[in-house]
Amino acid sequence: MSDNCVFCRIAAGELPTTLLHTSPNTVAFRDLNPQAPTHVLVIPKRHHTDVAALATADPALAGEVLATAATVAQAEGLGANGFRLIFNTGRYAGQEVFHVHAHVVGGAPLGPMLVR
Ligand code: 5GP
Ligand code: ZN
Repeated sequence: MSDNCVFCRIAAGELPTTLLHTSPNTVAFRDLNPQAPTHVLVIPKRHHTDVAALATADPALAGEVLATAATVAQAEGLGANGFRLIFNTGRYAGQEVFHVHAHVVGGAPLGPMLVR
């Protein structure tokens, strides 16, 4: 737990958020600034900086994050038409919050994977 990490504070229940799903080790909540009709963030409760650090330190927990993302996508009705799962990692990817999080986005056609 890092006191100045916003997602650690959400995981600890210290900040208000729209909680969608919790498991013993993960939390899913709506993004504050949605970029698609459905935009959910999935985090491990334990702090890891990014998906590379998480996968190295705790691959089982990385799997739990993916499983929660799939559960949430299904619960949000994204199963039929599909969705995108994004882990921004580091500066070139524009990562803003350095507590690993999966973006689950969908609910409409999402266009090309990358802006050209
Ligand atoms: P990144 O660019 O790091 O991949 O994405 C960070 C995401 O976290 C952004 O989409 C931003 O809207 C979201 N975000 C930042 N602070 C908060 C917060 O306090 N609550 C919620 N629900 N989302 C947040
Ligand atoms: Zn954190």
